[in-house]
Amino acid sequence: MRETAIVQRIRALAEAGRHDPAIIRGIGDDCAIFRPRPNEDLVFTSDFVLEDRHFTLRTHTARDVGHGALARSLSDLAAMGSKPVFCLVSLAIPARLGASWVRGFYKGLLSLAAKYDVTLAGGDLAQFEKVIADVTCCGRVPRGKAILRSGAKPGDRIYMTGALGASARALALGRRADGPEPRIRAGIALRRLGVSAGMDLSDGLSLDLHRLCLESGVSAELESDLPIAPGASLKEALHGGEDYELLLTASPEKKLPPRIAGLPITQIGTITRGHAGQVYFKKRPLRAKGFDHFR
Ligand SMILES: [Mg+2]
Repeated sequence: MRETAIVQRIRALAEAGRHDPAIIRGIGDDCAIFRPRPNEDLVFTSDFVLEDRHFTLRTHTARDVGHGALARSLSDLAAMGSKPVFCLVSLAIPARLGASWVRGFYKGLLSLAAKYDVTLAGGDLAQFEKVIADVTCCGRVPRGKAILRSGAKPGDRIYMTGALGASARALALGRRADGPEPRIRAGIALRRLGVSAGMDLSDGLSLDLHRLCLESGVSAELESDLPIAPGASLKEALHGGEDYELLLTASPEKKLPPRIAGLPITQIGTITRGHAGQVYFKKRPLRAKGFDHFR
């Protein structure tokens, strides 16, 4: 099948899906055109998904890979408390996988896109020895209201949605973790509640909390009883990646409800004054051992 024919199929799938009216031109031209509203900020994020790094063709179907590729980017939009608007998807695949794999990838991606009103506005297709997907997402947030990593203050409480370690546990068992569910609704609700800082948990609590503290110029003290997924070890909970839950801080005057958008919210620690980026667990310095591509 030729590229033009494949693009036409993808275009038909995309046009059957969501279409944000702010996208005044989507797939079909050299660029997509997006017309923002007044008084909104746009947030952008871009994420790679690489075969044999983030998934294998043995364990993941084309649909799984498409779902996962969009979910990673949407998780970053959730972390900012933004509402997703559109995505651009660049996909390279080996020739032997063929058009049916491409179709499966886009079906997986577009079913998640439909759930969160994301318009597939464009992208690129290429052949390469391995599967590479790069998904860029844009979200909108009221002007000046995006949740940043840099807003945590000493005395703030640290919270997270959901539980830790499920993906690390699945990986240890040689299984495929369930496709991550981006915490979009929770992110928007938490932004409205006025949290002080936040990010998504993609590379493990120890490393991600270290990063948040570094950006905020603070330290953190974790509590000893963390919300751990069934079967996961403490080590998997502290250092395992790919949880895609939200990590937040809020001033002690803000009382966060025990559940937001159907997800449990647990206080897991306190922000303290101290060496920027230092995280303590049971009074001892916790090494940031989460997933780092360059270690
Ligand atoms: Mg992130």
